[in-house]
Amino acid sequence: MSFKNLNLINPIIRAVTEAGYSQPTEIQNAAIPHILSGKDIIGCAQTGTGKTAAFAMPILQLLKKYTPEHREIRTLILTPTRELAIQIEENFRIYSKYMPLSQFSVFGGVSIGSQLAALRKRVDILVATPGRLLDLESQRHIDLSKIEILVLDEADRMLDMGFINDVKKVLKLLPTKRQTLFFSATMPKKIREFAETIMNKPVEVTV
Ligand code: AMP
Repeated sequence: MSFKNLNLINPIIRAVTEAGYSQPTEIQNAAIPHILSGKDIIGCAQTGTGKTAAFAMPILQLLKKYTPEHREIRTLILTPTRELAIQIEENFRIYSKYMPLSQFSVFGGVSIGSQLAALRKRVDILVATPGRLLDLESQRHIDLSKIEILVLDEADRMLDMGFINDVKKVLKLLPTKRQTLFFSATMPKKIREFAETIMNKPVEVTV
């Protein structure tokens, strides 16, 4: 498969080609067609497989369909750690280089003040750790009511780290009509059962 065969648009192909990617990885081949067709997916993939790009590239393409006047956050990526949040934001920035979309990340351990200025500007894609996201939402700095796509990244780690209640609180703030993408390196029964409660007929993708 090539990026073009996956029906990715030229601005994305150009950006990833410049980043040195010559062809999609296995998880990208498996996940991208389903994500582009609007399906929920449960993806079982380790870090290092190219899973971030497997959701980031099609998300950018899906967001392109809407009007540039959109003011609200449209995609939320929940991830367990600040390092991952920064890394995912950086990946989005690379892949969206030729698109008019903006991304930002929020995480604990730094002052809220430093994150507020950026949140006052347009943010299409927000990457967040659960606790800081809830703090910002409860202080009305973030509106999650217009989220179209939710990604739970490294869901097994997120739940192991005790974020389950925070994740459930975040889910209550989101529209029920949305696309949900669930990624986990491992898929024990309790993770799968949780995934199924928050998704709509998910397609399973394992690499
Ligand atoms: P991840 O699994 O998302 O942590 O990605 C692992 C690494 O693979 C990152 O450094 C990405 O930049 C890189 N990567 C993602 N997709 C591709 C691709 N199609 N070709 C080459 N490298 C890639």
